[in-house]
Amino acid sequence: MKLVMKFGGTSVGTGENIRHVADVVTEYASKDNKVAVVVSALAGVTNSLIETACQAKKSEANHIETFTKKLLHKHQEAIATAITSKAIQKEVTQITEKTISELEKVLTGICYVGELTPKSKDYVASFGERLSAPIVWGAIKDHKAETQCFTGKEAGIVTDSNFGEAEPLMNFTTHLIRERLGPLVDKGVIPVVTGFIAADQDGIVTTVGRGGSDYTATILGVALQVDEVWIWTDVDGIMTTDPKIVSSARMLPQLSYQEAAEMAIFGAKAMHPRALGPVSKENIPVRIRSTLHPDNPGTLITKEPYAKATEAVKAVALIKDVAMVNVNGAGMVGAPGSYAKVFDVLGKNNVNIMMISTAISEANMSMVIRRNLVGRALSTLEIALLGRGVVTEVTAEDDVAVVAVMGANMKGTRGVASRIFATVANAGINIRMIAQGSSELNISFVVKEKDGTAVVRAIHDEFQLDKA
Ligand code: ADP
Ligand code: ASP
Ligand code: MG
Repeated sequence: MKLVMKFGGTSVGTGENIRHVADVVTEYASKDNKVAVVVSALAGVTNSLIETACQAKKSEANHIETFTKKLLHKHQEAIATAITSKAIQKEVTQITEKTISELEKVLTGICYVGELTPKSKDYVASFGERLSAPIVWGAIKDHKAETQCFTGKEAGIVTDSNFGEAEPLMNFTTHLIRERLGPLVDKGVIPVVTGFIAADQDGIVTTVGRGGSDYTATILGVALQVDEVWIWTDVDGIMTTDPKIVSSARMLPQLSYQEAAEMAIFGAKAMHPRALGPVSKENIPVRIRSTLHPDNPGTLITKEPYAKATEAVKAVALIKDVAMVNVNGAGMVGAPGSYAKVFDVLGKNNVNIMMISTAISEANMSMVIRRNLVGRALSTLEIALLGRGVVTEVTAEDDVAVVAVMGANMKGTRGVASRIFATVANAGINIRMIAQGSSELNISFVVKEKDGTAVVRAIHDEFQLDKA
């Protein structure tokens, strides 16, 4: 088989884990499979890079050296455990030291300028994968396998310049990846590619969005026309809910692209929301599986849905870090274009709307957005809309969470919504907003964040999702 294998931050968190990853990769490669590898940053590193960049912007220079020293130490420890050959250790250490010294300069630059643009933020965020991939490459080389290390840019992933959420230019990217990686893979060489990061047409570093290594993997899978893309992670597969919330959550053996995408969009963090786009067009199966239990087949995602006729609800997700923005105004009633104005302002300011609900009276509309964008949403809406006779008030609630209930067979099944809402009511919890997508694949609603976990548990229980 020809495979792309992606290892998330949780699978490359320590030197020991990286060694295990190299074991898994070389074992499959030795059985006559052709393998290309995609790796994420070591667990927690991307967050710490972004945090430090934000601090540097506030001119807190004293953090920079402490941070880079700690980062160097973390990666040196991983090198020492993951790689046994002294020569390879030395080679990877040199790359690591050079990369961290570059990072230190970038952070110092941000500090002096006092400005962190989306472009420089992507540049800083890219260092996580630039540091992890050489260690994985070294560990595979240590197993005497033939391997070569690439950044996303070197591999040929070219995106637009929408820093932070860049989109690949698929035709050009496919051409370059085939040219650069294709012959190597065919020869049995294992390319190790940094996930998450790419470059725009001017060669400037971009990232494809948080959790984006999954996306890198499927982009590579399509370009190399593999048999399957395997996403290795710390859970057995996609589950009926986050196992960190409900310990009896059950692994779903099979999902359609559409179901899995819906779950990913609605917070089943096991997958980047746009990752299934390229593979679903080409019908390339994706398997989510656990590095902790490598014999477990995991969740297989293909074209076909796999719902039992009776199974209306398949999974439930909790989406945190969101906020609800409410736009009110009697002037919105019967005023054509008033919703459009709101969307236009938010769109132009790069505020993505995750959920919308409006009252039939039209005097109110509520939207769910990412919590870190509340300030931007409120200020831009206020500047653009208030005092013009249509909108009289714009408010936000940022102590909320979204609960999304999903399943392909919810379509046309009567009574699902009433069961969901009765369950929430019986738990004594108030619902702030409701939306059902016209796809009928999910019903989503907003509750206070403090109630989110209880609601997910109650729904998981009501629909007996732990039972196959
Ligand atoms: P990786 O580092 O491998 O990319 P992520 O943290 O991005 O891992 O995704 C895996 C995590 O997603 C799991 O540890 C789990 O807590 C969380 N998760 C949330 N919802 C689900 C779900 N429905 N099924 C599986 N995992 C989920
Ligand atoms: N390291 C990146 C992140 O934390 C990409 C990934 O892990 O998939 O978002
Ligand atoms: Mg992830």
